[in-house]
This record gives sequence, structure tokens and C-alpha cells, in this order.
Amino acid sequence: MSSDPTIFDAILAGDIPCHRVYEDEHVLAFLDIAPLSHGHVLVIPKERAAQMDDLSDEAAAALGRVLPRLCRAVMSATGCEAYNLLQNNGAEAHQAVFHVHIHIIPKFADGSGLGLKWNSRELTSPEELASAIQAAC
Ligand code: 5GP
Repeated sequence: MSSDPTIFDAILAGDIPCHRVYEDEHVLAFLDIAPLSHGHVLVIPKERAAQMDDLSDEAAAALGRVLPRLCRAVMSATGCEAYNLLQNNGAEAHQAVFHVHIHIIPKFADGSGLGLKWNSRELTSPEELASAIQAAC
């Protein structure tokens, strides 16, 4: 266990109810209690980890394996044709619950869904940057 318990541990334990949409040995998915749009789902690993960089390869693989199926299920159930996957890490990045979770957020023609402000900047020192990240992998 790499972090303190959160409300998602209480959901995993069944101490707090949720509207479950999927569960397997490693993953639980349920409706977000304050959805940005109809069909907003949270997908969480059962392994407790605050951020994606804390998560084991095995738990991450289990999440990744089930994501396409869950996206298809949300599309089928809601009729959405567009959606965003959002995964916040750290309070500055808008993380409120410190247990890894991936949002599946349908986007509809009425504008409901994820609002985005894409603050694009000039790419600086790409060779050095790519080398530094590559070396840290
Ligand atoms: P974050 O900002 O950490 O990426 O998003 C946390 C999400 O968890 C929010 O969208 C919030 O509505 C959702 N959430 C927080 N508490 C609960 C809860 O008790 N039940 C459910 N179903 N969702 C919750």
C-alpha cells in the first residue's frame, strides 16, 4: 500500500455504496457521483496507489486491459460518439481523490462533458528533453 486510504477504499470495501458498472479481480468501475455528463464513469484499480506513477505494472495492465471494453459499454449505453479519458495526478492537476482513477466522460452535442482549455506552448530543447525522459524510463 503506497498511500493513505481514501473514500475509494470505502467504496471498494462496500462500506460506501456506488453504482457499480464493472468489477473483476483487479478493477472496479462505477458511476461518478457528480458527473460532467450522462454516463461519466470512474475506473479504479483495487491496488491502493495515489498517482499513476505509484501504480504497479500489473495493476496498470489490468486497468488498460479493461478500458476499451468500458468505453464501448459507455458508448453503447449512452449513445455518445465522443468521449474523453481523464486521469488527474496531484492537487495542482485537479486530483481530489488520491487513489488512481480514470474518468470516462462522454461528450455530447449539448456541450456536456469535459471542458478543455489547451494551453499549447512552443516546444523548447526537444533533444535534451527527450533524452532526459528516455534516460529516466
Ligand atoms: P479527481 O478530481 O480526483 O480526478 O476526481 C474525483 C472524482 O471522484 C470526482 O469526479 C468526484 O465527483 C468523484 N467522487 C468523489 N467522491 C465520490 C463518491 O463517494 N462516490 C462516487 N461515485 N464518486 C465520487
